[in-house]
Amino acid sequence: MKAIIFGAPGAGKGTYSTRLKTKLGVEVIAMGDIFRAQVKENSELGKKVKSYVEKGALVPDEIVVEVLKQHLAKVPQGAGVILDGFPRTLEQAKTLETIFELDVILLLEVPDWIIIERLSSRRVCKNCGAVYNTRFLKSKVEGICDKCDGELYQRLDDSSEVIKKRLKIYQDQTSPLLVYYKEKNVPLITSITTVIDTPPETLVEQMLEELEKLKMT
Ligand code: ADP
Ligand code: ZN
Repeated sequence: MKAIIFGAPGAGKGTYSTRLKTKLGVEVIAMGDIFRAQVKENSELGKKVKSYVEKGALVPDEIVVEVLKQHLAKVPQGAGVILDGFPRTLEQAKTLETIFELDVILLLEVPDWIIIERLSSRRVCKNCGAVYNTRFLKSKVEGICDKCDGELYQRLDDSSEVIKKRLKIYQDQTSPLLVYYKEKNVPLITSITTVIDTPPETLVEQMLEELEKLKMT
C-alpha cells in the first residue's frame, strides 16, 4: 500500500499514521518529524529549515522534495508506505507522481474548532515524537511519554498565532490538492471527526475496515 494521510494541521495525521504503522507494518515518512529532528540536531538541513518550521511557514519545495526522495530510497522494496505531511503544494504533488505510485488517500476531516482546541493543548515527546494532549489524550504521568519516558514539550508552532497561519496555509495551498486527486480518481478513504475526545482507536479501526474493502491490508 502506498498512501498519503491528508488533513489540516492537528487533524491527527501523526496520531493515526503511527497507529496504522503498528497495525499494518508499513513505513511512515513524516515530514514534520524529520524536520524537527534535524532542527534539534542543528544539522545543515536543520539550519536551513528552522525558521520556516518555527514560524509555521512551508519549507521550500526543492528542499522538501529532496528530503522525501532520500527517505523513500531507504524504504525496503515492496514495503507499504504512508506519507504524512507530503504533498502540501501542487508542485509537490506533481513531483510525487513521478516517484511514487499512490494507491489511496486517507483523508481526515476535522472541524476548525476541534483543531484549534487540540493544537493548543498538544504535547510531543522530545525523544520519540509521540503525540499527546493535556486534555483529550493524556499521558499516564503528566509531562512524561508513556512509551519511552521522554519529556513532553509544546511545539513552538502550536502557539495560537502560528496555528492560525498554518490553518490558512492548509486552506490556501494544501486542501486544493484534494480536487487534483479527485480528478485523477485516486481512491479516497474519508474519516470524519465530530466529537473532540473520540479515541484514536475508533477511527483507526474504521480506516482499517475501509482499507480491507479496497484490499490494501
Ligand atoms: P502539522 O501539525 O502542521 O501538520 P507537521 O509536523 O506535519 O505539522 O509539519 C510541521 C512543519 O514542517 C510545517 O509547518 C512546515 O514548516 C514543515 N513542513 C512539513 N511538511 C512540509 C511540506 N510537505 N512542505 C513544506 N513544509 C513542510
Ligand atoms: Zn517518547
